[in-house]
Amino acid sequence: MATTEHVSWPVGNCLCDKPLVMNHTSSPDHPWGGATSYRSLDCGECSKAWYLSGSHLVNLASERSVEAQIAPLEKQATSFRTQIGSLTQGVLKRWCEQHGFPTKKQEWETASTAGLYTGTLQAFYKDRQTKSLVQVLRLFADSDTFRGLASSSEKSDCQRLQADLKKVEQQISELRRGIQRVRYKELDLSARGSTGGGQS
Ligand SMILES: [Zn+2]
Repeated sequence: MATTEHVSWPVGNCLCDKPLVMNHTSSPDHPWGGATSYRSLDCGECSKAWYLSGSHLVNLASERSVEAQIAPLEKQATSFRTQIGSLTQGVLKRWCEQHGFPTKKQEWETASTAGLYTGTLQAFYKDRQTKSLVQVLRLFADSDTFRGLASSSEKSDCQRLQADLKKVEQQISELRRGIQRVRYKELDLSARGSTGGGQS
């Protein structure tokens, strides 16, 4: 019967300088692999205020306060993305209405030429079985296709929204950089084994 071997050993020091950043590995005892591993912060003191994220410890209180500042900005960003989405959908809908297509093959040919569909004819047939033409086509706000199909007021509205969105996204990433994170001290793993191993 297959069993799995679990091994844990310290790979780093927590903030009170104890070797309590642990690595855990599970390897099934068959030869075709499938080992998984993860790290955890096992210090009771440190884990009250910090959590492990990759090679860093992240301060929970600092993250909470930054996320609270970010929340209203995320709402703004979502609203800008929604407005950009309905602008491009409006242009796409108009394009579909302006073209009367007698066959699906002609839909595909015209949409592909216009840059509104990138898949094969077979994929298009499949998509169209369950979706309307507007749902199948894609129009991106920053594409030449959009600039070719939109009116000048739609283009300027879109540019303004994209600029607003970019500004908010920059504010969000600047705030995120302010979350307190500390790189934990990695232990010298080459010493493992010579000191009697670290298996638990
Ligand atoms: Zn600690």
